[in-house]
Amino acid sequence: NLRQKVEIMDAEKKKYLPVKFLAEKNRKRILITGGAGFVGSHLVDRLMLMGHEVTVVDNFFTGRKRNIEHWIGHENFELIHHDVVTPLFIEVDQIYHLACPASPPHYMYNPVKTIKTSSIGTLNMLGLAKRVSATLLLASTSEVYGDPEEHPQKETYWGHVNPIGPRACYDEGKRVAETMCYAYKSQSGVKVRVARIFNTFGPRMHMADGRVVSNFILQALQGEAITIYGKGEQTRSFQYVTDLVSGLIALMNSDESSPVNLGNPDEHTILQFAELIKDVTNSTSVIIHKDAATDDPRKRKPDISKARRILGWQPIVPLKDGLSKTIAYFKAELEQESKNKRN
Ligand code: NAD
Ligand code: UDP
Ligand code: UDP
Repeated sequence: NLRQKVEIMDAEKKKYLPVKFLAEKNRKRILITGGAGFVGSHLVDRLMLMGHEVTVVDNFFTGRKRNIEHWIGHENFELIHHDVVTPLFIEVDQIYHLACPASPPHYMYNPVKTIKTSSIGTLNMLGLAKRVSATLLLASTSEVYGDPEEHPQKETYWGHVNPIGPRACYDEGKRVAETMCYAYKSQSGVKVRVARIFNTFGPRMHMADGRVVSNFILQALQGEAITIYGKGEQTRSFQYVTDLVSGLIALMNSDESSPVNLGNPDEHTILQFAELIKDVTNSTSVIIHKDAATDDPRKRKPDISKARRILGWQPIVPLKDGLSKTIAYFKAELEQESKNKRN
């Protein structure tokens, strides 16, 4: 009978992580585009635990339902399967606009779609922000600096980008997205925040992401050769995803409308990084060199003095701690994969 059915449904109700109670005046309706992706899903977790109402919009190009499934059915959570290139009409207070493939193999897979996502997708989200008077935070990138001639990179640097190279769909897409934010700000008074995010890593990175952190860890764990593109003298600075999430939330809730770098200034050559991964995974993999990637930035390191000054933010997770969490995640993924193959 019906009562029994209801009781069974109650018993089957999912157990969620405990979210904080927020009084209605402090509770915000927050849209996260790209919320099923790597960074987005960690942002969802933090904002949900803080007690906000979170709506995720994602087309699942590189994102996965698995990254956010632990919130599905929660009264404060909503998931919308939607492509931001199509207009969206909902009511929200804040928009974290992250939708866009982020790893070079993913954004080069369909460069036209990448451009549409960054241009038309951002236009739509700005149109939405304008209509409902929401604040929009754009997940921009250190790639707006291109192959930089200034080191480390400050927000005042205009960048050195090849507009017709293989990375252009992403770099120029993000540059025009930034331009649109400031056009909507000056013309329509939209409140905008622009985070220039530097290389970020952590659990839930896509296995086939092709980025250096996932490639090296997977290669090291499987005893395969660790592939360095070029000599490995190029540098990157890696930030752990929870540090980025703290920075994004601090920026959204600040009054700062001009771009702010969010990254970890701890810089490594790619060769040093390969050796570090070999070391922390206790791997016997050999390190080999492949052809250098086209238009590969030779160095990258954020100047984060602006974020320190304005947001009181700086990264706190040491690289090795972040790496061990990420390695544990990839190990579990590999085990799951081989279990699936056996079944
Ligand atoms: P990701 O690929 O894991 O996440 C992107 C998400 O956006 C995915 O869930 C994907 O399915 C979704 N998406 C893509 N196109 C869409 C569309 N047209 N409509 C709706 N959803 C769409 O990447 P990530 O590393 O989590 O990056 C998130 C954001 O941060 C991106 O905007 C990226 O450019 C920016 N960023 C990331 C890094 C980094 O190191 N991870 C560095 C700089 C900037
Ligand atoms: N838009 C949207 N959601 C909204 C409001 C607008 O997706 O709630 C889209 C709209 O369809 C348009 C874009 O955002 O393609 C820019 O909107 P704006 O109002 O600035 O421009 P207009 O509609 O006047 O061209
Ligand atoms: N890289 C590498 N081997 C790989 C993947 C990447 O040597 O298997 C290099 C790549 O050429 C670049 C750096 O590592 O110099 C960072 O690449 P990633 O794709 O992670 O991000 P990018 O900062 O280039 O967007």
